[in-house]
Amino acid sequence: MLRSHTCGELRLTDVNTEVTLAGWVQRVRNKGGLLWVDLRDRYGVTQLIFEEGSTDKSLLEKAASLGREFVIQASGKVIERTSKNDKIPTGAIEIKAETLEVLNAAKVPPFIIEDETDGGDELRMKYRYLDLRRNVVREKLQLRHRMMQETRKYMDAQDFIEVETPVLIKSTPEGARDFVVPSRVNPGEFYALPQSPQTFKQLLMVSGFDRYFQIVKCFRDEDLRADRQPEFTQIDCEMSFVTQEDILRTFEGLVRHLFTNVKEVQLGEVERMTFADAMKYYGNDKPDLRFDMKFAELNDVAQGKGFAIFDQAELVVGICATGAGEYTRKQIDALTEWVKRPQIGAKGLVYVKCNEDGTYKSSVDKFYNQEDLKAWAEKAGAKVGDLILVLSGDAKSTRKQMSELRLKMGEDLGLKDRNVFKPLWVVDFPLLEWDEETQRFHAMHHPFTSPKTEDIPLLETDPGAVRANAYDLVINGVEIGGGSIRIHDRPTQQLMFKHLGFTEEEAQKQFGFLMEAFEYGAPPHGGIAFGFDRFCAIFGGSDSIRDYIAFPKNNSGRDVMIDSPSTIADEQLKELSIQVELKKA
Ligand code: ASP
Repeated sequence: MLRSHTCGELRLTDVNTEVTLAGWVQRVRNKGGLLWVDLRDRYGVTQLIFEEGSTDKSLLEKAASLGREFVIQASGKVIERTSKNDKIPTGAIEIKAETLEVLNAAKVPPFIIEDETDGGDELRMKYRYLDLRRNVVREKLQLRHRMMQETRKYMDAQDFIEVETPVLIKSTPEGARDFVVPSRVNPGEFYALPQSPQTFKQLLMVSGFDRYFQIVKCFRDEDLRADRQPEFTQIDCEMSFVTQEDILRTFEGLVRHLFTNVKEVQLGEVERMTFADAMKYYGNDKPDLRFDMKFAELNDVAQGKGFAIFDQAELVVGICATGAGEYTRKQIDALTEWVKRPQIGAKGLVYVKCNEDGTYKSSVDKFYNQEDLKAWAEKAGAKVGDLILVLSGDAKSTRKQMSELRLKMGEDLGLKDRNVFKPLWVVDFPLLEWDEETQRFHAMHHPFTSPKTEDIPLLETDPGAVRANAYDLVINGVEIGGGSIRIHDRPTQQLMFKHLGFTEEEAQKQFGFLMEAFEYGAPPHGGIAFGFDRFCAIFGGSDSIRDYIAFPKNNSGRDVMIDSPSTIADEQLKELSIQVELKKA
């Protein structure tokens, strides 16, 4: 080895030991006859001291020529520091250098490689390998590593078998566009990259694997956001001979295991809520339960009093912002402007302040007396000092707008504590979802999700009302995972495809292999997949999954470090029998 110790290892107890360290020069402080180097590696920083009068005359000179990020090797004796640094674990000692070797010089880095850096996002992405030298960045990937190891430990202990599935496959419908790869040996034909290993894991159940998992890359060509990447990682799982309850318990176990062993947090009870309730009370299928502000429907107490806007509304709904009764006129005006922005789309905002003296002050005092407002307050659970915020309109958009307002109030009132974790299973999702644009039903989860047996007759009469055996795991308003009990017989799968608007030929062409497999003894099965990058971000207390990916892509799906995607050589295109003619989108 080129070193005897790492740069994070030596302590007072090592004084007088002869050591050799190797690493990167973080900083040089030159005081003439005396020179210090902060030497960094993955494990920490150790101070080297070079003094005049040491055996090797050129030593000090050599040390003075070191630049930032030079890779060096130095040997010497561990000594006690006169002025100690209690901010770093090695701060009580330094190495009195006796030899110095430059293993590799370095150009001046484009930004400072320390926790506090002067590099902007784009620059750090371009030199991601330098950014990864920074502790704060590396630590995030170490957290990811721990989560991966603990996931494998738990899954293995539960008898799950890790199986790799292919990456060059054919379309798996998870609701996004496919990334495609041309096949050279089959001109004009394309593979699709998996949006998930869904069909393969189901086939493994038909094979009798019983319990499968894989930490796997998935690819979805979607519009990008802070919490989305074109390629991302799932903890993908499937089990045979289980009910929904078995799956929820098993994976609650995984989540608990990770919280205990990686984060040292004892996770409280994992609540359960139906999709219908989540929408009714939070306007959202992934409610953030770190704070209350449950929706209170006010139709019966707010309508019929002459306020036309409420009278004409399908839904009048309020939330109680605890302790916000002191909000000033200016703050409320700002909130009103906020809900009226096109992204939210509300027409206006009605408020009721619950005054200290027990009276109410509202923006609609003209139409409602104190008794009326008291009834609102009771419905919304508002007490003295609270603020009730009310929106109205058609039920669907009003719930959506109120959900946004609720989340904003949670943020503004400091209720989104990153150290509090509120896990929730949302269950009983609808099987199908109406798509206005294409004027037909889509699978809400994916087409392999089984409807609840008692709801199957509704497929003919009221498809939108059919509930699925599908569930999502939500933590703090973020969907961490989702899955379902699957269809495992050909007739039901065929029926499902029919309702999704597939012709029999289309269904056969795309998924004939799966339906055929169902005819060779498919066990009842179900599973789940966790968005691993998001899971890491939640653990790390961050909103961005990018920080938890070693080499992420930017908002336009580019890797600016390796400059990809890029055009390919004509020769390559020829081999693929492809001619590129770009059309305007
Ligand atoms: N394949 C699904 C997904 O990627 C998860 C599942 O149903 O297991 O969302």
